[in-house]
Amino acid sequence: MMGFFTPKAKIVEVFKSIQGEGKYLGVPQVFVRFYGCGAKCIWCDTPHARQGGEFKIYEPQELVSQIMPLSEGAHSISITGGEPLEQKDFLKEFLPLLKTRGLKIYLETNGVHDKALREVVGYIDIIAMDIKLPSSTKQEAYWKEHEDFLRLLSRKDVFIKTVVSCDTLKEEVIVAAKLASKINRDIIFILQPNYFDLEKDVVRRCCQLQKLCLPFLHDVRVIPQVHKLVGLK
Ligand code: SF4
Repeated sequence: MMGFFTPKAKIVEVFKSIQGEGKYLGVPQVFVRFYGCGAKCIWCDTPHARQGGEFKIYEPQELVSQIMPLSEGAHSISITGGEPLEQKDFLKEFLPLLKTRGLKIYLETNGVHDKALREVVGYIDIIAMDIKLPSSTKQEAYWKEHEDFLRLLSRKDVFIKTVVSCDTLKEEVIVAAKLASKINRDIIFILQPNYFDLEKDVVRRCCQLQKLCLPFLHDVRVIPQVHKLVGLK
């Protein structure tokens, strides 16, 4: 007789640290880094999680057992990557197990997989969503995907993050701000200076872009990746 199929996930690492980006900067979290991402952003800071790196295979219950000893005092469990939504079948079994243990779930995502999100959004408490700008990533635009994704999150605790590099075009940042404003003018919209461009005056550029976004959105912030600045994982 055939048994039930148990989805498995490719996981790069599980560790505890503080959140170094965005609205929840500084809160203690357990990070679960999923392997793999179909996007190919030129400045990807987790290339080992994206392709060719090492990972371990987990079943849902096994991964929960790895997380639980680290979860005491954690604000939430950060499901990060790579791109976690590319392993949606696993998430559908794994996230309910975390929820039944009373843990808050924080998803970090590139914001393009709306169909996968639809299947797991009910288990997620906080979403840190990227808007990928083609001039920054050197990849295709995902405007339609980002808009469809964001529409699913109107009742969620969600904020947007967009990475600004020295090559970022202001016209694209404005398109991103307008896209966000169509869904919610009060959403937190974070301009994150690319870590690799910090010595090239990219923070000042973010401040200029912030002014351009404010006619469309009420809460536009410039926040660098603090964990990298202070040498944390
Ligand atoms: S979406 Fe994120 S994980 Fe994927 S390539 Fe871009 S930066 Fe890397």
